[in-house]
Amino acid sequence: MAWRSSGVSNDSLVANLVKNKLLQTDRVISAFKTTDRALFIPAIEDPYADQPQYLGYNATISAPHMHAAAIESLAPYLYPGASVMDVGSGSGYLVSIMCKLVMPGGKVVAIEHIPELLNQSVKSFKLSEIPLGEAYVNDGLVVFADTDGRLGYPGELFDAIHVGAAPEHIPEALISQLKAPGKMFIPSGSAGNQYVYEVIKDDQGNVTKDRKYGVAYVPLTDLSHYK
Ligand code: SAH
Repeated sequence: MAWRSSGVSNDSLVANLVKNKLLQTDRVISAFKTTDRALFIPAIEDPYADQPQYLGYNATISAPHMHAAAIESLAPYLYPGASVMDVGSGSGYLVSIMCKLVMPGGKVVAIEHIPELLNQSVKSFKLSEIPLGEAYVNDGLVVFADTDGRLGYPGELFDAIHVGAAPEHIPEALISQLKAPGKMFIPSGSAGNQYVYEVIKDDQGNVTKDRKYGVAYVPLTDLSHYK
């Protein structure tokens, strides 16, 4: 699937993701259309290729088809007014997509432990979200935190959590920060044996973990692995 949805522009990439049924929900399609992937990977020659791309510091921006799968999976929980956390936010691309889905009234918390990537992602986000991005950040409606994503963002609860790097085991701290109801999209497992899990907390607080399909993400781990 890695090559199937590549485009020569953001519009053609999104059109191919739609044609291949990776993007299906109208408001999700519109968020992808209005978020130019190239802004988040300025140094990359082919920003509309449907493949992961190297960001530096051993990190990669996920392939467009994985971004599409993740956001479609979380879409029912990403409505205006919802709060969402992106753990291992890397380039910041999904922060912009999520922002478009939960605003007005929502909140986005992005967690990335490499300060250089985090700083670049804040700049990309503000450029992508002209004219409101700067105010969202200043008003604390979009938060970029340079912390260990395995701990989440203690003290807040989220309707949706996206995790962009794979821990060996799904961190309990992240499950505990899901609202009831809430949903998390998370890759987990060891290298070569990783799967996407959809973790759903129902309105009674019961948690189910549904193993979906095999993937290859960078690890959600110690900073020393990345530097
Ligand atoms: N969704 C992002 C994925 C980036 S790759 C994108 O498409 O751009 C995963 C990111 O997780 C990397 O930037 C890496 O630095 C970060 N990461 C890995 N372990 C982490 C941890 N323990 N805490 C916070 N961020 C982490």
